[in-house]
Amino acid sequence: MEATIARAKVVTLEQYRTRRRPDQSGEPEGRTRRGSDGDPLFVIQKHDATSLHYDFRLEIDGVLKSWAVPKGPSTDPRDKQLAVATDDHPIDYADFEGVIPGGEYGSGTVLIWDRGTYRNLKFDANNQPIGMSQAYADGHLTVWLEGEKLRGGYALTHFRREAGKAQWLLVKMNDHAADARRNPVSTEPASVTSGRSMTQIADEERTND
Ligand code: MN
Repeated sequence: MEATIARAKVVTLEQYRTRRRPDQSGEPEGRTRRGSDGDPLFVIQKHDATSLHYDFRLEIDGVLKSWAVPKGPSTDPRDKQLAVATDDHPIDYADFEGVIPGGEYGSGTVLIWDRGTYRNLKFDANNQPIGMSQAYADGHLTVWLEGEKLRGGYALTHFRREAGKAQWLLVKMNDHAADARRNPVSTEPASVTSGRSMTQIADEERTND
């Protein structure tokens, strides 16, 4: 698995910039450093693109490492959610909510579904922390999320490549924050930053034109 990851073609922030035209799309251009100290960021953006998905992003080494999760995250440790690695995004993309106009890369409505900070839970056999970038390269991350909708441990594990894309599994760890009865993807759809629905975001952006 490690060799597979090492060979994997990772889309960098430079490629992110060349693929997008921020003056056209209204998306952030790409700050690489956080403005504040403390724990690193995570954000989950619901994205109604060609197919609806949830973009799960973790701040690692000054960028947002990103995965597209078609079904969204679960709070039930029995669920194994497919998470397809996608482009690194700039840190300030964590603030983006709105509509990426038609014709632009990834066009469609974006809603900040959850956001907060995380802690790295990955330790080696000698109880020394394994850095997030090393854990990413190894294809196995474990993090503790402190969001508004999601809390607790989550594991991300690379398991195969298909059609040139790295496929991972996102799984809730079995801790006291796990809850098989919750289903926040369907019961808590609103934006954590604006309280808006996908429809409201789409309508308001259209009115502003
Ligand atoms: Mn997306």
